[in-house]
Amino acid sequence: MKPAIALLCCLFILNTLTGSQLFEDNFENQTLRFEFYHVGNSQEECFILNRIVAGNGFSGNPRTILHPSLQGRYLVKVFCLPQKELIYLYSYDSFFAEYKTTEPALSGEKKVFQEVIRIPRPRTDFLMTIELRASDNTYSKIYEQEFEYRKIFIEKDYPDEQVEVINLLINGEPAGKVDLLFVAEGYTRKQKQKAVQDAKRFAAILFKYEPYKSNQEKFNIRLLFKPSLSEGITQPARGISATTPFQLSFDTFGISRYVLCPELFALHRAAAHTDYDAILIMFNSARYGGGGIFNFYATFPADNIWSEYIFIHEMGHSFAGLADEYYSSSVAYNDFYPAGIEPLEPNITAFLDVNKLKWKELLTLKKNLPVSWEKEEFEKLDASLQQERAELEKELDRLYIKHAPQEQISKLEKRLDELSQLHARKIDQFLQNSKYYGKVGVFEGAGYAAKGLFRSEVDCIMFSKGFKPFCMVCKKAIQQIIDFFSF
Ligand SMILES: [Zn+2]
Repeated sequence: MKPAIALLCCLFILNTLTGSQLFEDNFENQTLRFEFYHVGNSQEECFILNRIVAGNGFSGNPRTILHPSLQGRYLVKVFCLPQKELIYLYSYDSFFAEYKTTEPALSGEKKVFQEVIRIPRPRTDFLMTIELRASDNTYSKIYEQEFEYRKIFIEKDYPDEQVEVINLLINGEPAGKVDLLFVAEGYTRKQKQKAVQDAKRFAAILFKYEPYKSNQEKFNIRLLFKPSLSEGITQPARGISATTPFQLSFDTFGISRYVLCPELFALHRAAAHTDYDAILIMFNSARYGGGGIFNFYATFPADNIWSEYIFIHEMGHSFAGLADEYYSSSVAYNDFYPAGIEPLEPNITAFLDVNKLKWKELLTLKKNLPVSWEKEEFEKLDASLQQERAELEKELDRLYIKHAPQEQISKLEKRLDELSQLHARKIDQFLQNSKYYGKVGVFEGAGYAAKGLFRSEVDCIMFSKGFKPFCMVCKKAIQQIIDFFSF
């Protein structure tokens, strides 16, 4: 076990000095995909290797192969043998990592989840380890396996005739660009044109937001289309089951709007028809929902009135490892970030030492930190608006279950949309009227906790719902990831 900060410093130096040479010395230009079953509950967990598959060339940046952001709960390390030198490293979060925090997992129920780890193909024998980060930011090894170069069986991908890849924006070779892959889910064969139009719309939306906007030439964007037998995706609480290629579903862990994809093997098998650094699953639905898991994937609906916000916000999680800056006034402290431990995400802090503040060089408010912002008034306003919406959403699920007339359902859906727009407008007005709006300081209330965790600005797209910019701190973190993938 070792502290995360020391590890980060050490890796930064290693990365800068030796990145490019490391790649050429140690890897072939091919991606290996490890399919794992991740099994367990809150108390114990393990990885079981299903198979190893050889895919395309390596789409990551060969000059910097040690990922700069290590806030995921799982740390993957590859060492060349026999020297045992670290040659590849990245971290990620997963569906299992989310499951671990749920009630069934806490009470001991074990579940199996698919997980995929992708690395460039080493030239020699190698050792792969997976370390688990505990909530106090210490690591323990939970998987370790040596692979003999000549002996391991590496399967080849077979082409799937139903998979089609459509180029939306190509600026250069995959190695030097950020390769985003939109994956269309819940679109029937007849809806292919809709999928293409939707993906183009979201590609354009991405470049409305900084820092993506000023880095457009560093991106390649492609769309993966695999027809779905039925339109839309599965919605368990409404009794709707859809047959889609990647089995995306609402109601993950009983949270209605939480949309995740369990079929990781199928997802990556399809994605391997092209080059990709990040997967963005666009589902064919007008219902509010989504999800974003660091270095795993993001999901967002194509046709909700908040689709733009969901897409940008969830990609903030999956692409740059940003934390949620929002919190609820009803939760004072929570277990997600234990008290007194500095979170690894770049955009929230426990503010334990002003001299070590992550965004110290960006501060525009330097005195009297944390800032005494209009927190109580904000909480009162937010709570009153939340409650009404929650009641209407439950009512809507009930209408679906009892197969109420479409007219009645549509009427309620419309009311919900209007209410959420009104809610967002009131919150926006309130925050924009704050005398601290747009200034960088230290504001209490972040990371699901009203107390003990802090964000850098009054508002940010990681804080409240709406079409608004990222705060300076989030912009800087995203820029770092863009620079990591491109040159
Ligand atoms: Zn932010």
